[in-house]
Amino acid sequence: MKFDAPQFQSETEARKYIEALRWPDGRVCPHCGVVGAEYATKREGRYRCGAKECRKDFTTTTGTVMEATHIKLNVWVMAFYLMASSKKGMSAHQLHRTLDVTYKTAWFLCHRIRLAMANGGLVGPMGGAGQVVEADETYYGKVSNPEPRTRTTGQLHKSKKGHGPANKRPIVALVERGGQARVFHVAEADRITVEKIVTANVDPASRLHTDESSLYTRIGKTFAAHETVKHTAGEYVRGDVHNNSAEGFFGVFKKGMSGVYQHCDEKHLHRYVSEFEFRFNTRTKLGFTDTQRAQLAIEGAEGKRLTYRRTDGTAAP
Ligand SMILES: [Zn+2]
Repeated sequence: MKFDAPQFQSETEARKYIEALRWPDGRVCPHCGVVGAEYATKREGRYRCGAKECRKDFTTTTGTVMEATHIKLNVWVMAFYLMASSKKGMSAHQLHRTLDVTYKTAWFLCHRIRLAMANGGLVGPMGGAGQVVEADETYYGKVSNPEPRTRTTGQLHKSKKGHGPANKRPIVALVERGGQARVFHVAEADRITVEKIVTANVDPASRLHTDESSLYTRIGKTFAAHETVKHTAGEYVRGDVHNNSAEGFFGVFKKGMSGVYQHCDEKHLHRYVSEFEFRFNTRTKLGFTDTQRAQLAIEGAEGKRLTYRRTDGTAAP
């Protein structure tokens, strides 16, 4: 990894870089929202809002995941770049060694940057007329005290003394064929939950592709088409009907989680899910470079939340 661009070299250059990303049309006071009314203070990078009722100080990190840290801004930018460009993710330990910062600092950077990635997603419905959206679910991790699950709403809970899916947390993925993914870590992948997620995110003019799971039977009828492949009968592709994009996402996610993030607490799982979703949605195939991906993550550093993540109650920070 080469870090010869100016934003990696010094704190001043890193600040200019972040300012240009965050304020392309003039500095915005994060306290009152007034644009271009600020003046510089004696401290480099600190501005005072000129609006009469405000007069508060701010920097380029105020109101972002970088706020109030003593980590140098060029280290932040490097960490953003590293986490955005590594396909399977980067552990705190790797970051600690690569950036020559303490493990504690690296751990902190990882968590904050993951949060920024969660904010860097897109809104608006997925799919549309003639477009395919795949819906699929998988299981990951362990739940220490799993509640007994019923089978009235789906065919999912084949519990085998604590080793089966009842012991794991479901992850539901919606993937636009050749496009973006939205991934949800849910408490239970029952029909009600899955229907809510699908309805809130997918344009009904789309073709919905799923496996034969009864979770999607009812909601499938509200789409232009609902086509399924029968995994239990060994059928994975029929013409252009398949779930390969969603399964590809799950594959990268599980590989990354087992290789890099070995000790993921269940309560943090949704953040890891968001991190992989972010990289998937800005993947090279869609035309994004490593640099653009890092920049998008930095732009997501501001404290905004996406509404579609709030509705399922799984992404509260
Ligand atoms: Zn202000």
